[in-house]
Amino acid sequence: MEGQGEESKIHFMKRAIELSRHAVKVGDGAPFGCVIVKDNQIIGEGWNHTKSQYDPTAHGEIDAIRNACRAMKTLSLEGTEIYCSCEPCLMCAAAIHIIGASKVYYAVSKSVVYSILGQPLKTIEEDLKNPTDQRKIPAQSLLSGEAQKVVEEWHQGKQ
Ligand SMILES: [Zn+2]
Repeated sequence: MEGQGEESKIHFMKRAIELSRHAVKVGDGAPFGCVIVKDNQIIGEGWNHTKSQYDPTAHGEIDAIRNACRAMKTLSLEGTEIYCSCEPCLMCAAAIHIIGASKVYYAVSKSVVYSILGQPLKTIEEDLKNPTDQRKIPAQSLLSGEAQKVVEEWHQGKQ
């Protein structure tokens, strides 16, 4: 299906917001929900599970991506649209790039949420603009050649 009507978009966003309430209601984590849509059908839903799974990476978007990929048995969600109750953080935005989604719709902006929660995620985004060795958590390369060889061998085997 080419595009979606405003009514469908509102329907999917309402579901994402409903899931954000669900995350808190069942005690799974912070109030963030997400649905993944392809051809006007929801193919994956998720909400924040950081608390219940002791997983700081279990954001709503990541949960929805995991559920959709497992359901579809794929690593790519090309052509999908992502509906999030909050604008995706950097980690989730990167995951959305990795899966190849076509468009993101969000309800509340992350800057508003950061201002409400005072979360350190905004600081991370600023820090990542620095060169790797000048970040708050500096990164240093070790044994680059050895690891590169593994990647090259794997890549050649795929061709
Ligand atoms: Zn996130």
